[in-house]
Amino acid sequence: RLTNVEGEVVFRDVTFAYDARRPALKGINLTFAAGKTTALVGHTGSGKSTIVNLMSRFYDPTSGTILLDGTDLKEIRLADVRASVSYVLQDTFIFAGTIMDNIRFGRPDATEEDIIAAAKAVGADDFIRKLADGYHTEVEEQGSVLSVGERQLLSFARALLANPHILILDEATANIDTETELKIQAGLKTLLAGRTAIMIAHRLSTIREADHIIVLENGQVIEEGTHQQL
Ligand code: ATP
Ligand code: MG
Repeated sequence: RLTNVEGEVVFRDVTFAYDARRPALKGINLTFAAGKTTALVGHTGSGKSTIVNLMSRFYDPTSGTILLDGTDLKEIRLADVRASVSYVLQDTFIFAGTIMDNIRFGRPDATEEDIIAAAKAVGADDFIRKLADGYHTEVEEQGSVLSVGERQLLSFARALLANPHILILDEATANIDTETELKIQAGLKTLLAGRTAIMIAHRLSTIREADHIIVLENGQVIEEGTHQQL
């Protein structure tokens, strides 16, 4: 794990092509400020996932540079990059095991107290305690006994426990009720506090809360600013 990470990520003239004939990103210049939340918005195929794929070094840019706190990502050990950048995906990855095991994923050394504290902090403790065996309830792969909202809260607890420097979130688009939405917003706030976060955002409510918004179209930045500026 890298130490003294501020968590600023800069894209400098980044071009990337999965397929040489059709670049997915074309000359991207961007700064994801340390400790702030940036929302990435844009139509399907505009390049949002590609940006976060490059940040985790699932791919390297075709040309241009990505800098983490001023250092070229290519010069940082891959294991260190992966330990610093963590994902909360749209479809939360749930495996067969207890709720506790599922939250502990990514932090094998976490104690039960750590796990419960993380769940409480993001507002997941309430629903977990109502399950048949609380934190020791066995869930099936895909977590079919849990609602979409509950799975989201579980993923927030997991991410908080993992405590990455840089957090990437792909917001769920599923319809959830207002009460659950409020719980998710509150959990998110705790999770994002003081951390560099990049959010592939779909909901206006989360976009509004972001410190900075970047609008992508056809692999280029077409607009950026705060919600008020845009
Ligand atoms: P969505 O909102 O649908 O998730 P997105 O903004 O995340 O879209 P990307 O997935 O970054 O868009 O895709 C950008 C471009 O790259 C698209 O033209 C897409 O078809 C192409 N692309 C994405 N992934 C791959 C891949 N693995 N191989 C080839 N082309 C890809
Ligand atoms: Mg995508």
